[in-house]
Amino acid sequence: MSYLKHLYCSACGQHYDPHTVQTFCQDCQAPLLAEYDLQAAKSVLDRDEFKCRPRSMWRWRELMPVYEIENQVSLGEGDTPLLPVPRLAETLGFHHLFVKDESMNPTGSFKARGLSAAISKAKELGIEKVIIPTAGNAGGAMAAYAARSGTEACIFMPKDTPFANMEESRIAGAKVILIDGLISEAAGMAGVKAREEGWYDVSTFKEPYRTEGKKTMGYELAEGFGWTLPDVIIYPTGGGTGLVGMWKAFAEMEALGWLEDMKRPRMVSVQAEGCAPVIKAFHEGAVFCDYWTGAHTIAAGLRVPKSFADQIILRNLRESQGTAVAVSDEAILAAQAELAEQEGIFAAPEGAATLAAFHQLAQSGWVQPEEKVVLFNTGSGLKYLK
Ligand SMILES: *Cc1c(COP(=O)(O)O)cnc(C)c1O
Ligand SMILES: [Zn+2]
Repeated sequence: MSYLKHLYCSACGQHYDPHTVQTFCQDCQAPLLAEYDLQAAKSVLDRDEFKCRPRSMWRWRELMPVYEIENQVSLGEGDTPLLPVPRLAETLGFHHLFVKDESMNPTGSFKARGLSAAISKAKELGIEKVIIPTAGNAGGAMAAYAARSGTEACIFMPKDTPFANMEESRIAGAKVILIDGLISEAAGMAGVKAREEGWYDVSTFKEPYRTEGKKTMGYELAEGFGWTLPDVIIYPTGGGTGLVGMWKAFAEMEALGWLEDMKRPRMVSVQAEGCAPVIKAFHEGAVFCDYWTGAHTIAAGLRVPKSFADQIILRNLRESQGTAVAVSDEAILAAQAELAEQEGIFAAPEGAATLAAFHQLAQSGWVQPEEKVVLFNTGSGLKYLK
């Protein structure tokens, strides 16, 4: 059912066995990525058949890492709306502006895709307890999918994480540990507990499968645009799973012969001015990010001082001829109001950040009025109400 062949290290290329529990490359301290037998898949799969299947990201099961269908742990994630936003576009003089509205996912954010994939694979591998450090939505999503699969869940979150994330985690039966610090400190503590007590750590990129869930956003975009890709994708970047996942999906679809042309989108990474390690490294021409000290922003999902996949994020941005933009919290709040007033979309601050970045890019001429642009609203504004 799945064409998953092996895992490989994103830095040294070494292969790892997907039939046993894996984390990341121990030699390089770098993420593992999944590789599929796309030659075999190409001769069997018909891109136009997928839309006849029941709606969820598991429509793409042959290109997902779970071998047995009964191991899928699903709450109906994926297949989110790709909304044209003509009123908003008009105010900016643009003609083809879209919002991919990930707030429609279970648990109200696109973290559902990644955690559905990770918890499904964990189930397939017989893992019984999972642990995660989170800036918010990943914890809530993990708790929900762990509950659905009968897996024990433990979550480390900063004590200033949005209230909804704490409550959704607790009500799903997860053990929630609030800490005085940032997600990086939470990651350290979760790592220690994982090693001491045998929990499986599903931190961003420390296991190989969350990216596979998030890559389905790339498949949906291509399908939604008639097997072509937009000119520009603007993505709010924390750990970068969606950015890396979509870039991977584009390569897979190209190998499958599914795309009408070879044109790939320019990828734009958006972060908050108070925590912008990717933006700094991108513009300095660096290969890795420096740890960002004193990270602060209202966009909790972007409060990530250093991603474990920084090297891949920077490489993908450059391969795509994209760019990286930092926006202020004030600009995020203004964009959040604008999206709601103009189009009725109550975006998470992270999602609103993409509109704030779009304003900058339109003003500088980096993006042109005739181009097809997709903003990612990664979560619901409702989850941030106090
Ligand atoms: C986690 C999160 C992000 C960042 O996503 P990554 O894939 O980790 O870069 C953006 N927006 C929201 C709402 C999030 O929860
Ligand atoms: Zn390696």
